[in-house]
Amino acid sequence: MKPAPFEYVRATSLDDAVAALEASGGTAKILAGGQSLVPMLNFRLVDAPLFVDINGLSDLAGIAVAADGGLAVGALTRHRELEISPEIRDRFPVIHEAMKHVAHLAIRNRGTIGGSLSHADPAAELPAMCVLLDAMLDITGPVGVRTVAARDFFHGPLSTDLADDEILTAVAFPALPAGTGWGFEEMAQRHGDFAVAGAAATVSLKDGIVAEARLALFGVDDTPIRADAAETILTGQRPEPDLFDKAAGAARAAVNPMNDLHGSADYRRHLTGVLARRVLKAACGRAA
Ligand code: FAD
Repeated sequence: MKPAPFEYVRATSLDDAVAALEASGGTAKILAGGQSLVPMLNFRLVDAPLFVDINGLSDLAGIAVAADGGLAVGALTRHRELEISPEIRDRFPVIHEAMKHVAHLAIRNRGTIGGSLSHADPAAELPAMCVLLDAMLDITGPVGVRTVAARDFFHGPLSTDLADDEILTAVAFPALPAGTGWGFEEMAQRHGDFAVAGAAATVSLKDGIVAEARLALFGVDDTPIRADAAETILTGQRPEPDLFDKAAGAARAAVNPMNDLHGSADYRRHLTGVLARRVLKAACGRAA
């Protein structure tokens, strides 16, 4: 299929892009990598009179080390840059692992982190990484800049905190404590497909006891979620098989999966427990 007719403008600055969105009364849409937007346009699932192309805004791309040792990632940074970045691999190996599961190389060459977060597919890996790692998202609109925690950004499937005239500009990943272990697992029908269910964890240990545990689940609810109850069960405990079982049970109870062609809600709930247990065990094993 082909899209309905539309106007196209290539923004030359962030102000320019925001002004174009504002002037359209919120009917225009941003075009980043186009890897979700263009298929939706072609299927006429999206219709807009104007597309504002931000690919020329090179200031919005790139990965920089922040003062706290975390990373600041521009919204226009391509998936492939995240995948091969030494800074990502060294500081956030869980993201490095997750990127291998995002679509296919041709799509990763074009797709951007800002596009993935703004699109907000509940089964996508990067939104789950942001929720896991307590990322903070910078958003620019006609009234200025605001920052939103990733956990507050995702409202539902394909729905976020972004207003129609706002642009996501950057993502800050705060540094993890030294020696943090991680785990990432997803079940997809074919490599490169969206996850039927996925889980990711980070764990830090002190004297063999869990000092901090984070567990994010995706593809199993309206948004990526943190399994708070599972995290509480783990914290202050010695990592042992029974503890992983209890935390996996809490993860299963936390999700509200959907039924679709790729799997029933029951199957997704079952997968949640299996994957949660695996990532927690892996994260504890990798923690220094
Ligand atoms: P675009 O397609 O350009 O835009 C997507 C949406 O976000 C649009 O509504 C657009 O207006 C808005 N937008 C874009 N940037 C901004 C911004 N900075 N501020 C505000 N709004 C913005 N993704 C996965 O995570 N995992 C997968 O396994 C996966 N598999 C895929 C398989 C196929 C066959 C395809 C075609 C895509 C797949 N994707 C997958 C999606 C891919 O990762 C996309 O690149 C991503 O979802 C959107 O990024 P984009 O830069 O292409 O955004």
